[in-house]
Amino acid sequence: MSFDHPEFDGHEQIIWFHDEATGLKAITALHRQRGGAALGGIRFRAYASTDEALTDVLRLSRAMSYKWALSGLAYGGGKSVVIATAEEKTPELLRAMGDCIESLKGRYVGAPDVGSNASDMAIIRERTRHVAGLPGSDTSVPTARGLYYAIESMAQQQLSRDSVAGVHVAVQGLGGVGGRLCRHLADAGVTLTVADVNSELAGQVASDCGGQVVSPEEILAVEADVLSPCALGAVLNEQSIPGIRARLICGAANNQLATPEDAERLRAAGITWAPDYVASAGGIIGGSVELGDIDAEECEARLRGIGTTLAEVLDRAARDGINTDAAAQAMASAILSA
Ligand code: NAD
Repeated sequence: MSFDHPEFDGHEQIIWFHDEATGLKAITALHRQRGGAALGGIRFRAYASTDEALTDVLRLSRAMSYKWALSGLAYGGGKSVVIATAEEKTPELLRAMGDCIESLKGRYVGAPDVGSNASDMAIIRERTRHVAGLPGSDTSVPTARGLYYAIESMAQQQLSRDSVAGVHVAVQGLGGVGGRLCRHLADAGVTLTVADVNSELAGQVASDCGGQVVSPEEILAVEADVLSPCALGAVLNEQSIPGIRARLICGAANNQLATPEDAERLRAAGITWAPDYVASAGGIIGGSVELGDIDAEECEARLRGIGTTLAEVLDRAARDGINTDAAAQAMASAILSA
């Protein structure tokens, strides 16, 4: 690691944790500490190399800073990655991770991410109180609601509609967020096409919400008004973008762009992309209720605010002739340096 790492971006602290007894190898990156802390998920993944893990944690913590800044909430971005396979994720390893977080004295607050869940957070909580997303909290509820407002705002601004009624949305991934999003959209009169690798789940959501099922291979190329990626990252890439028929993309999946250049590829293809860190901010807004920072009323107002922020991002991109990722980053950077 050096200060010249391409993803360094002025990170305030990067902490390497190693615990001999449990074999824990983790990296926590604090991009910006605002409100006294940097918040972000704890990702468990069997990274092929330490460098891959470092690159991932730096990108993810910076994206968390953007997400917090644009949500209007006063935290900074942080993230942890633990280099471990699912089998290696033992209670002892989780407790050791809890000790590491505790050693940061509240400068970092962890939460579930890819490879970790609420039960894991409960074990980490045995060693530190600086953890959120405990059993009983489910951020996919506010994430889906905020995403709905983002899609509604895009339909109004980009399709000149009064509402989303009659708009055709293709949803990829029907789990906690995608499944709930379909319900909100169906209630508002949206035409749905859905896909999930779990075909039983896809059939169930389609029958509950009156949608049509297509295969996971077909969903990205459906001729819909809006494509909503709610499964995996890196789905928008050099290979997939030429086949996308929707003119608008707005989903919750984290890190939808495979590379930063894909934002420009989307713009060149005439596709308007809602940056995922804007559209999926409902999770951290809901998490702020759990942390006791905002109440339910403010939560709902901030979820609606996602639509307003997204409209500002798209306006700025159009005005400045830049892609939506660049516009959102410029807005977030201005907030972070203010
Ligand atoms: P989830 O695991 O509950 O659901 C993901 C769904 O995607 C599953 O049903 C899975 O079968 C399906 N899937 C996986 N690969 C697929 C493929 N190739 N094609 C179609 N479907 C596929 O996850 P979630 O909580 O709904 O989150 C969805 C995405 O949103 C993730 O990228 C997550 O990081 C992001 N996100 C979630 C939250 C949250 O609060 N849950 C907040 C912000 C961002």
